[in-house]
This record gives sequence, structure tokens and C-alpha cells, in this order.
Amino acid sequence: THQVHIIGGGLAGSEAAWQLAQAGVRVRLSEMRGAGDMTPAHQTDALAEMVCSNSFRSDDADSNAVGLLHQEMRALGSLVMAKADAAKVPAGSALAVDRDRFAQGVTQAIMDHPLIELVRERVDGLPAEGLTIVATGPLTAPSLADAIAGATGRDQLAFFDAIAPIVHAESIDMSIAWKASRWDKGSPDGDGKDYINCPMDKAQYDAFVAGLLAGPKTEFRQWEKDTPYFEGCMPIEVMAERGPETLRHGPMKPVGLDNPRTGRWPHAVVQLRQDNALGTLWNMVGFQTKLKYEAQVELFRTIPGLENAQFARLGGLHRNTFIRSPELLDGQLRLRAAPHIRFAGQITGCEGYVESAAVGLLAGLMTAAQIGGETLAAPPAETALGALLGHITGGADAGSYQPMNVNFGLFPPLADDIRKKDRKRGYTDRAREALAAWQTQALRNRVAVSA
Ligand code: FAD
Repeated sequence: THQVHIIGGGLAGSEAAWQLAQAGVRVRLSEMRGAGDMTPAHQTDALAEMVCSNSFRSDDADSNAVGLLHQEMRALGSLVMAKADAAKVPAGSALAVDRDRFAQGVTQAIMDHPLIELVRERVDGLPAEGLTIVATGPLTAPSLADAIAGATGRDQLAFFDAIAPIVHAESIDMSIAWKASRWDKGSPDGDGKDYINCPMDKAQYDAFVAGLLAGPKTEFRQWEKDTPYFEGCMPIEVMAERGPETLRHGPMKPVGLDNPRTGRWPHAVVQLRQDNALGTLWNMVGFQTKLKYEAQVELFRTIPGLENAQFARLGGLHRNTFIRSPELLDGQLRLRAAPHIRFAGQITGCEGYVESAAVGLLAGLMTAAQIGGETLAAPPAETALGALLGHITGGADAGSYQPMNVNFGLFPPLADDIRKKDRKRGYTDRAREALAAWQTQALRNRVAVSA
């Protein structure tokens, strides 16, 4: 029999299972996909499926908070990072992956681990006893969401998130579009041309924005209208509503992109990023939308180079469920009202694949320590892991609590006399120093099996 029950085999649940098993703990991992259930965004039965972008964002550990988080997770033997590194595709200084290869890698490692039992089942209630980690994500099955609302004594918050369209490469007209990275800064191991760029002149851009604003959208119910978006995944039409130039300063920014046919920057650009290792699928960067499907096809085919585009997936819009963690959880991610239950992943109100996996990693390590009769101290606040955990369990005001990506704003401030250009490095150097001692404690129980 198992010692810990993990509910949800996404980014967080898979990582938590791995961390526990690597510490010698027997785990039951329940995943509803593959047992007749699906979420509105997932498309496969694989564990750790990435539902939208194929990017883990910046991999720069010296000047970017999420890059630093990658580095900390690798140091702690993260399964998600190991499999992401193994499935990398070119994306400049970002870590983007072939999503199928990545999810298959995670699924195989979990299935092969002797201490993990993967069970394809939907769990509809919170277990009354036994150490449990709830990692059911932003699209938690409604039955379980109700049970959580019952246990927490307050309604969950729900809001929306959007999916960017994916285009078949062969349907892109490369006599109009061209490959390049902004300012020619490509990934070090690639040819420096990581994106496909589609140019627009002013008339084309203005017509596009007008079409976007006029196009039919998926209808919202009233309570849905009152709910905010993640800034990072805001639909293009919502950006367009903010003003005619907003998109040109956002996802359609042309700066640093010389069109080889004119030698100049276009008025606006639509960028596509490689979505699979074969290079056959490309996603439209930042183009999440709630436009109706037929309207998307019609409008996106007005983009120069995409006149004959074939879409592997159109943009969409989905619910996001999370709990008011600062009030409901203690510093060990345990539900105050039922401390045998921990929460992990996006349902805690972190935001993003990497952050979700990171909180899963922490929940796993903390549970393993507890089983060993110890308490694992929270990671130092100066580290990316500590800053993220602090946001979830401590720092934020519970009333206005919102999901957040890891960022330097969550770190304790640096001394004022550190100059602006040295500040990012100041944060990351300080974090590396702070992680070292904690890491030794965190990994004390490790009896590793290699990923
Ligand atoms: P998930 O990866 O969703 O895993 C939860 C798992 O639990 C799922 O496999 C689900 O099937 C299972 N489950 C749910 N209920 C039950 C139940 N009752 N019993 C058993 N199993 C259950 N982040 C980014 O960094 N970049 C993006 O581009 C991005 N786009 C997103 C787009 C959408 C539409 C959504 C909803 C989220 C997006 N996110 C994105 C946010 C977030 O990073 C991902 O959702 C991430 O997968 C969260 O990880 P998780 O492990 O918490 O949840």
C-alpha cells in the first residue's frame, strides 16, 4: 500500500510523485485522463501535458527569475526539468520543448519508477485520512472542486485563460514570411533564426485590428465577465480593445526584425515559434483568443504569409481554478483545516508550468521529510523557490490574492546601493548562495533512481 496519495498527474503531481519516490516513499498517483475523463484543454492521456505554449520561458539563470527557478529545480533533481532539457527545441534564450516528447518522457519515468503506482481514476472527494497531495490544476474536475470548496469553507475562485493557435509549417508562405530572431539573437545552438515572422504594413495592421474587434467572440456568462485574465495570457482582442497601438507594442511588435525583402522593420509582425521537434508545427506567439473558430480562420488568413494557413489547433479560452492559499494553507502547503492534505501546482495560485512543477517539487520534499519524522524548513526567501512559496503561503493579501509567475518582485529587496545594471545578477547570485545549505537538508533522504 501507498504512503502518500497524489491526486492529479499534471506538471505538479508528476514532480511531487517523483520527489517522494526518490526519497524512498511509496506513492499512489491518480490521474483521471485515461479513465474516460478529459479537461477542456488537455488533448492526450500523457502525464504533464502542456496545454498551451510549448515554452518554459527564459532559461537565463543570471538575469531572469524563471531561469533561476529552472536552475534551482535542476539542482534538486527535478523530473520535469530533466525531461524538458531532453526535449528542447530552438527558441533563443528560452527553454521550449517538443510537447509530446516531453510528456512521454515524464510519463515513462513515472511508470518505470518502482515506488510509484499510476492509477487512471478520477477522485471525487478529499480523502478523510492519509497523507494526500491535491495537484488537480486549473481545470480540476467539478466534482472534486465542489469537495474542495466544501472543505475550505469558501467558494473557489474561477477565471479564464486562453490558448494560442498552432499552424502547420508547410502551409506558411515563406516567400512572404521569413525566419529570424529579434535583433538576430537566436539560441546558441541554433542558426539564430528561431521564429517565423509575418510582416504587416499599416493598412493591413489597421484592418486586422478592426477585424479582431468586430469578429464574433465566444459568449460569456455574467459571472465569467467579472473575472480577470492573467496578464501573460490575455486574449489579443482584449489587448486590441485597449487601443489601436497596443498589439504593435505587445505580441505584434516589429522592432529588431528586418524584413529581408525590404531591409526595414515592418509596421507590425506576427511571430510563430516552433512547437514540435520535427519543426512541422508552429504556434502564433501571444495569439490567445476567444474569437469563434470560423472567425479565427478567416481573420488569421489575412495575415501576410498565412493566406493558406492550415491550423492544427485554434485558439481557445478556459477556466482556471485556484484556492485562496495565503489564508487556507500553512507554510508547509498543508490545508490548515485538514493538515493531512497538501496542495500543489496551479491550484495553489502559482502561475505557469515551471512554477506549478516547482510547487509540486516542494510539496513532495516537504511530505518526504514529514514521513521521515522531520520538518523541512521553507527554502530561503532569497531563492526563487522561497520567493514563490512566500507568495503562496505568506506574502500576499488573501483578499486580493491572484496567481503570479515567479519574478524578482517577490524576492526580498536588495541593498539600495547596488546599481541598476547589477541588480538582476545581485538577486541571482544571492539566491545561489542561499540555496546551497537548504539543498543539503532537502536532499538528505534521497535514495535516487536516475530519470
Ligand atoms: P495540470 O497540469 O492541469 O495537472 C492537473 C491534472 O489533474 C490533470 O492531468 C487533470 O487531468 C488531473 N485531474 C483534475 N481533476 C482530477 C480529479 N478529480 N481526479 C484525478 N485527476 C484529476 N502555463 C504556462 O506556463 N504557459 C502557458 O502557455 C499556459 N497556458 C495555459 C492555458 C490554459 C488553458 C490553462 C488552463 C493553463 C495554462 N497555463 C500555462 C497554466 C499552468 O501552468 C498549466 O495549467 C499547468 O499545467 C498547471 O500545472 P498543474 O500540475 O497544476 O495542473
